[in-house]
Amino acid sequence: MVNPQGRTLTFITTDQCGARCAHCLMESGPERESTLTYESMRRRMDDIASGGDVQLVVFTGGECTRLGDDLLESIAYASANGLLTRVVTNVEWAVDEVSAVSMIRDLREAGLREINFSYDDFHRVWVPEANLLNAWRAAKGVGFGSVVVALASGPRSRVTVEWLRRSLGHDLPLAYDETHRRLPLPEPSADGTRYLISNSRLIRVGRGRGLRQGYMTPEPVIGGALFQRCPPENAEPVITSEGNVAACCGIYPNGNEVLDLGPDGRPSAAQRTILAAIRQLGPGYLLGLLNQAGVQVRHRNSYVSICEVCEDVTRNPTAVAYLAENLPRIEQDLLAASALASAAPEAES
Ligand code: SF4
Ligand code: SF4
Repeated sequence: MVNPQGRTLTFITTDQCGARCAHCLMESGPERESTLTYESMRRRMDDIASGGDVQLVVFTGGECTRLGDDLLESIAYASANGLLTRVVTNVEWAVDEVSAVSMIRDLREAGLREINFSYDDFHRVWVPEANLLNAWRAAKGVGFGSVVVALASGPRSRVTVEWLRRSLGHDLPLAYDETHRRLPLPEPSADGTRYLISNSRLIRVGRGRGLRQGYMTPEPVIGGALFQRCPPENAEPVITSEGNVAACCGIYPNGNEVLDLGPDGRPSAAQRTILAAIRQLGPGYLLGLLNQAGVQVRHRNSYVSICEVCEDVTRNPTAVAYLAENLPRIEQDLLAASALASAAPEAES
């Protein structure tokens, strides 16, 4: 894993996936068809990454390995241009040892530096745990910078940190502490690779919107998600599976009236102001405005993440239309918040 402060370009390479997980934020599945090509990704890398401030290119999905040579060529192009690369995969390809070794060899030969295996209760319905073991064994000691198992879990989960440690036979360090704060990266192992579990909480976005509350780990602060701002590190460039630029991939961005910035990535006035409010005041602020105006958007009794709040606000056309009609009010609140923020240090001194 590279420095998390480094700028990241993310390709949602495809919506297609052999699995159809109940919590999938991208709502991917075998029937979905949007897919990027090598040419489209190369052009985006030339446009966005050539400025020099992108360090890492992430290939996610859907299941990015379904792109075959288009994925390998894109990894090779990024590597040849000095960019670090990461693949996020559900290990559907690791059906036996030979297939696992062959895929890992292809990815490494293309120059891939980091690999994340997504695995949890919902993946396990579709992808046998033997695949994870095959992929894990094949990825060990072959020169990756990091090999990460990405786990999303809650109080009812069977696939847990302990389950993964036991299954993989490795006392893997964690990426987050019990309050969901990022821990310092562990030292690389003797073979030069960092091995860890990225232990995040389940959240209810995308297909997971309807998951029962009992699956979720409650927020440490009651109503906390309603008061948080979207941190600046979430504002990284994303290319959707339809080739558009998006403001983030915390929720499915395709066609989202706020997050999907279209083919040229130029936000409208409404998108600019609403995005500024999400980042500086938080999506809970927008939810509050909508509540005051009687616009019903809530799909949940309580929220465990700002992205859940953001999804309720930005995926509702009536809500977005109301916000677009009330930009002066939002801009006024943004100005007041930045005036307050710049006055605060003086008040304290
Ligand atoms: S969560 Fe991952 S593996 Fe599951 S359907 Fe979505 S993209 Fe596929
Ligand atoms: S709060 Fe909204 S903009 Fe921020 S990461 Fe979540 S979905 Fe994206």
